[in-house]
Amino acid sequence: EERENHNLIDVVKEVYLLLESQAVMKSIAIKTNLKQDKLIVECDDTKIKQVIINIVKNAIEIMDKGIITIEIDQIDGFAILKIIDEGPGIPKEVLKKIGEPFFTTKKEGTGLGLIISFNIIKSHGGKVQIDSDEGVGTTFTFTLPLVNEGL
Ligand code: ADP
Ligand code: MG
Repeated sequence: EERENHNLIDVVKEVYLLLESQAVMKSIAIKTNLKQDKLIVECDDTKIKQVIINIVKNAIEIMDKGIITIEIDQIDGFAILKIIDEGPGIPKEVLKKIGEPFFTTKKEGTGLGLIISFNIIKSHGGKVQIDSDEGVGTTFTFTLPLVNEGL
């Protein structure tokens, strides 16, 4: 894989352009809330794009309408990216199994999108967290270490 310095903000903007039309077809709006304009991360940008696409696509698939928000900020030397959906939420029994290979609740699902995504984030030195409220929605949060360009 190719790791180079990339601006995570640009990576998010590219994913947004890729998925916006798919969302609109389902009466779903994707919003970006970019609290910085430059967050440099040493990464394989193709893989990080894949992670964001996997998570946003799951949200598009599970929602009938509503808003998906992609939020980016930084905290303590890490970029922090949140994908917030207004889907049905994840029941506790399902939440336990998320990240197990081949676990899916979809007729044509592979159950691989999230486990692949989590492994990509881990291999980049980041962490993933899932917060879900049934009837309210789900938030996937992941971090990635920032490159300190001043050094
Ligand atoms: P797949 O999309 O092929 O089912 P994933 O690994 O992407 O595989 O997701 C696994 C399962 O996690 C999904 O089948 C679904 O049950 C659950 N899931 C993932 N994202 C969400 C979400 N945003 N809201 C509710 N459930 C979700
Ligand atoms: Mg999926």
